[in-house]
Amino acid sequence: MIMFDLPSLVRENVKHLVPYSSARDEFTGKADVYIDANENSLGSPLTRWYNRYPDPHHQALKAKLGTIKGVSPEHIFIGNGSDEAIDILYRVFCVPAKDNVIICPPTYGMYEVSAHINDVELRKVELTRSFQLDLEALERSIDGQTKMIWLCSPNNPTGNVLDRADVEMVLNNFEGIVVVDEAYINFSRQRSLIPDLADYPNLVILQTLSKAWGLAALRLGMAFASPAIIDFMNRVKPPYNINQATQELALLALDEVDQVNDMIRLLVEEREKLTSVLSGMRGIRKVHVSDTNFLLVEMEKAHEVYRFLLDKGIVVRDRSKTPLCEDCLRITVGTPAENQKLINALMAFSFS
Ligand code: PMP
Repeated sequence: MIMFDLPSLVRENVKHLVPYSSARDEFTGKADVYIDANENSLGSPLTRWYNRYPDPHHQALKAKLGTIKGVSPEHIFIGNGSDEAIDILYRVFCVPAKDNVIICPPTYGMYEVSAHINDVELRKVELTRSFQLDLEALERSIDGQTKMIWLCSPNNPTGNVLDRADVEMVLNNFEGIVVVDEAYINFSRQRSLIPDLADYPNLVILQTLSKAWGLAALRLGMAFASPAIIDFMNRVKPPYNINQATQELALLALDEVDQVNDMIRLLVEEREKLTSVLSGMRGIRKVHVSDTNFLLVEMEKAHEVYRFLLDKGIVVRDRSKTPLCEDCLRITVGTPAENQKLINALMAFSFS
């Protein structure tokens, strides 16, 4: 195992932070009358329950998520989307204008935006042509100020998983924080790293309810890590980052694992069908292997196809100018009817 010294990685101001203490932190027992939080005691125009602040520690949610994910609640952080978890990781670990992080493009855009917002130096180590980690270049980019390496597996926008052995190599050799974003893991053939958390004190895994769970509008992302890392993230987060409506609706949704598994099966089936139909079409050069709910498709005249689809009322993501994704469109797997519309539209495009 690596020499991992968490306190030396955490920012001094965060290490010594006295976190906000809410009314519900100060009194946790049962009472008749709650007049300690300056809420509206009469109620609200919606229902009585929204006049009270939500649970800042998301206890019911963490208990249920813990059962589903096979980890105890102290390993779970809940954020307002994984985007909030990304930002909080920067704020826990990176001293602005001093520390640096490494990302492996092409990858999810918020790792870079969050670095810029937090004034943290960003080092880019491109993936190889086969969208895998370039371990030697990665090693060369690390220095004493490198606090985090961001890995995304399955990766957006390429759709593939990173080789597990490469991810383990990084985890076993880098003494900073390794974030593995598993936003699309439910669509993947590869299993989550969550069962391996105990082996890697430097590992932070990100997941979200926005993809397989179909709840992008609720804004609920998760981080899984050692209790010590989770504790620092909780200290930095805004006290009421997950609102009451989201907590209630997410709890209801988390009872429906079977329904979600049925949706995952259907989307994966549709992904494979779409892959085989598109692969056989004129003008399409390559449909990249996907472990997600989207396809990265390389084709002739990608930008023109993008415009053509728009005219037909079909919106895909134009990735044709992204390095390593030249001539590619990123296409989310839709409903069976939507996928058929896409195929029909592509057949109507004149590639020659
Ligand atoms: N990570 C990856 C890899 C993503 O593709 C996305 C959304 N496109 C996110 C995180 C953001 O997820 P959330 O909705 O939980 O903020």
